[in-house]
Amino acid sequence: MEAGILINGQVLGLAGTGYPDAISFLSGGDEAIQEAARYAEDGRDATPIAQVKMHAPVPNPGKFICIGLNYRDHAIESGMEIPEIPTVFTKYDNAVCGPGDPIILPSVSEKVDYEAELAFVIGKRAKNVKAADWEDYVFGYTCVHDVSARDYQLATSQWTIGKTFDSFGPMGPSLVSKDEIHDASNLRIWFDLNGQILQDSNTDQLVFDVPALLEYLSSVMTLQPGDIVSTGTPPGVGMARKPPIFLKPGDVCTVGIEGIGELVNPCVSELE
Ligand code: ZN
Repeated sequence: MEAGILINGQVLGLAGTGYPDAISFLSGGDEAIQEAARYAEDGRDATPIAQVKMHAPVPNPGKFICIGLNYRDHAIESGMEIPEIPTVFTKYDNAVCGPGDPIILPSVSEKVDYEAELAFVIGKRAKNVKAADWEDYVFGYTCVHDVSARDYQLATSQWTIGKTFDSFGPMGPSLVSKDEIHDASNLRIWFDLNGQILQDSNTDQLVFDVPALLEYLSSVMTLQPGDIVSTGTPPGVGMARKPPIFLKPGDVCTVGIEGIGELVNPCVSELE
C-alpha cells in the first residue's frame, strides 16, 4: 500500500520516492522525511483527501502491542488496582484496518466493546532505550480503536484472544509526526458512539506514559520502525456501564484525540 503525506488537506503519494510504503518510509528516518519534503516542494499534484482511500497508517506493523489498565480512572472503573508494571497484550496484523473500514462483529461474541486509545509508532530500531531518549525513537502518534470481545478477553487470564479478531484494530485517520504534538501526555481523548460521547478523558491520566512504555518494552524486545504501541483506554467502556453497552450492527464508532484527528468506523455483522 502506497504511503503518502498529508499537506493542507491534500495527499501526495510517495510511490515515486525511495520510500513507497509506510515501513520503508519510517525506516528511512530523517533522510526519508527530507526526501518527501523535497518531493512535495517540486510542485507535484496532490489529491484532495476526500478523493483518496485512506488505509491504516501502518497497514502491516511488525508488532501491534497494546497496554491494559493504563488510565488511573479506568483501572478504578474496572475494579483493578493501579498497576506498578504495565499489562501487555497484542493484536496481530489481521486486526488492522483503516479509517472508514467496517468493524466486523463476529457471530461468536455477544460482548464486543469499544476502547479509544492513543498509539505511538516507532521510527527507529529501539533496544534498551532510556525514557529520556524517547524522542529519538518515536516517529509519531495515531488513534487506535482497541475493539474488544469481552467474553473472549476475560474467559482466561490472557486477553489477546479477545482483542485480535479480524478488524479489531482500526487505526488512523493518519500518522501525526511527533513535532506536531506539543505534549502527548496532555491531549483530550474521547469515544463517540452514534453521536453520543461515552469516553472523555485526557492522556494526562496515563499511568505509564509514552517514554516509560518505550523504556519498558525495549528492555524486553527490539522495537522496529512501524511497530505500534497502543497505550490503553480511559474510563467509560461499555462493559462498565449499567446497563452495559456493546457494539451492534449499524453503530458508528469515532475515536478522537486532540491534535491527531478522528477515526470513524461503522460496525457490521459478520453474517451480512
Ligand atoms: Zn485497550
